[in-house]
Amino acid sequence: MKTLQGLCVYPGLAMAKIMRGALEADPATEAFTTIENEQSLFRKALALTESQIEAIKVSASKRLSKEEVEIFEAHRMMLTDPEYTEGIESEIQSGPSSAAMAVRKVTETFIQVLSLSSSEYLRERVADLKDISGRLIRNLHPQESGPTSEEPFIYVGVDIAPSDLIALSELQLKGVVLAKGGSTSHASILMKAMGIPSIITALEAEEWLQNTKAQGDIGFLDSAQGTFEINPSADRQAGYEKKLAEEEQQKQALQAWKSKPSKLKSGESLPLLANVGNQKQLDQSIAEGAEGVGLYRTEFLFLDRKSAPTLEEQTEIYLQAVRALKGKSLVVRTLDIGGDKQVSYMNLPKEENPFLGVRGLRLCLEREELFLTQIRALLKASEEGPIDIMFPMVTDPKELTQAFALIEPLKKPTMKVRWGMMLEVPQNIFMILELSKHVEFFSVGTNDLTQYLTACDRQNPNVQQLNDTYSPGILRAMAYLAREVKAARRELSICGEMAADQTLLPFVVGLGVNKLSMSARMVARQRARLAELKGSDCQALVDRILACSNRSQVLELLRTV
Ligand code: PEP
Ligand code: MG
Repeated sequence: MKTLQGLCVYPGLAMAKIMRGALEADPATEAFTTIENEQSLFRKALALTESQIEAIKVSASKRLSKEEVEIFEAHRMMLTDPEYTEGIESEIQSGPSSAAMAVRKVTETFIQVLSLSSSEYLRERVADLKDISGRLIRNLHPQESGPTSEEPFIYVGVDIAPSDLIALSELQLKGVVLAKGGSTSHASILMKAMGIPSIITALEAEEWLQNTKAQGDIGFLDSAQGTFEINPSADRQAGYEKKLAEEEQQKQALQAWKSKPSKLKSGESLPLLANVGNQKQLDQSIAEGAEGVGLYRTEFLFLDRKSAPTLEEQTEIYLQAVRALKGKSLVVRTLDIGGDKQVSYMNLPKEENPFLGVRGLRLCLEREELFLTQIRALLKASEEGPIDIMFPMVTDPKELTQAFALIEPLKKPTMKVRWGMMLEVPQNIFMILELSKHVEFFSVGTNDLTQYLTACDRQNPNVQQLNDTYSPGILRAMAYLAREVKAARRELSICGEMAADQTLLPFVVGLGVNKLSMSARMVARQRARLAELKGSDCQALVDRILACSNRSQVLELLRTV
C-alpha cells in the first residue's frame, strides 16, 4: 500500500481501478521508415486528431459553458494552421525524419516563438500546443491510444490536457490524481465544473508511475482530505466500501435539502447562496437549491478570449443573470483580475509578487475604461432587477472614494443597486467604521484574507499546512471583524471557502453572519448541517473557540457540537 498526498480541487470519494497516464512518449525512439510512409502516417494522425477534437468539442458543449468549449475550438484552429502542418510535412521530407520526430521538432520551434512573444495570450498558448502535439504523436499509432475501459477508473498522471480530460469523462472516470496541475489551470476548472473528485500536486505520483508496472492496481481517493491510497489491504477496502455507501446515501438524502429553507434547528434563517463564474453555473446553482448568487466572479467572463467583452455583451450577460434569478439575491463582484487570474490580451506588466500587486480594484482604478464599461453594463441590467455590486481587493477607503467619483455620474434613479466590498486585505479589519461610510455590505474573502494573514501563498503546495483557517489567529480575526461590522450596522457575508466548511459552520453561525455563499454543490450539505445547530449554542461556542491556543484544540471543540 502507498499513500499519495495532494491538494483538493473538487471534494469527494472514489474507489476504482487505476488508469495510469502515459509518461511523456519519446519520439527519438521512433525509427524512420520511408518518406512516403511517414507522410502517410502523419496525415492519418492529423485527420484522426482533428476528428477527436471535434468530438470532444461536441461532448464538451453538452456539459460546459461556451467559454470552456472555446478552448477546444482554439485547439482545432492551431492543429489545422497550415504553417504548422506544412512545417511538419517539410521536416519529414527534408530531414528525412520520422513523423513523430518531425512533429516534435516543429512543435518545439513554435513553442520557442510563442514563449518569447510579448503577448501573454500567445505565451499561454504553449500549453494548448503541447496538448495537441501530444495527441498527434499518440495518434501516429492509434492502437496504443486512448482508454476504452468500460469499468470505472481513477486517472493517475503527471498532468492532464483538457482534451484528454473531456475524453476520459465520457467513460467512467471517477477521480483524478495529478503530480502537477495548478488550482486555476484549465483542467482544474473543468474538473470543478464537472464535479470530479480530484487532487493536484500529488508530487509522488510521478515517481510511482516511473517505478512501478501496471498490475491491476486499485486506488481509494478521499480528495477532501487530499489523500490517495494505492492498493489498500482487503480490510481497508471493506472499510472504504462502507464509506462510499454512506456517501451515496448522504447524496440521496441531500436531494431533499435542495428545496428546503435554510434554517437553524432553533428557527433562525441563514440564506445560503452560490459562487458562480458564468451563466451555466448560475443555472446549475438554482437547480442545486441556492437562494441566490452571493459571488459572481466576473473575471471568468474575461478569460480565454482574445479581447474584453463589449458593453453590449456584458449587459446581456448581467441581464440574463437578473432574469434567471427572478428577484433572488445577485451579488456581482467587479473584475478581480491580477494575482493568479491573468488575462492575456490586457498585457499586464509582469510582477514579482502578483498577489501583492496591481489586482482587483487597484487594476480597475488604473484602467478606468475597462472598469466603467463593466459598471455601465451592471447599472443598465439593474433596471430590470436588483443587483448588489461589490469591489474586490479594496485596500484603503480612499480607493472607494475614487471609484464612487467615477460611478456617480452614471447613476440614475431607476437603477436598483446596493454597493459593497470584499474583506480580503488584513488592515481593513481595523478600518470597518471608515469603510462602512461608503458601503452597505461586506463579504469576507477568506481565501485571500487567510493567504495574507498567514503570509502563505494559497497556491503553493509547500505552505498549505500553514495556510490554515483553523488557526486561532484566523478565527480571532474573523470574530473581530464580525463584531466591527455589526457595530457599524452593515450586512456581513462570507464567500470564501470557509463558508462551505462543515466543521467550522457552528463557529461561523455563532459569529452572526447574515449570508453564506459557496460552491453550489455544497449548498444542500451545509443546509442539512445548519438544521442540526442551535443559534444560542453556536454563540456560546465562539468565546470558547477564541480561547483555544492551537488548531487541535479548535478542532476538538468543534467536534463536540
Ligand atoms: C476569496 O478570496 O476568498 C474569494 C472568494 O475570492 P477569490 O477566491 O476569487 O480570490
Ligand atoms: Mg479573493
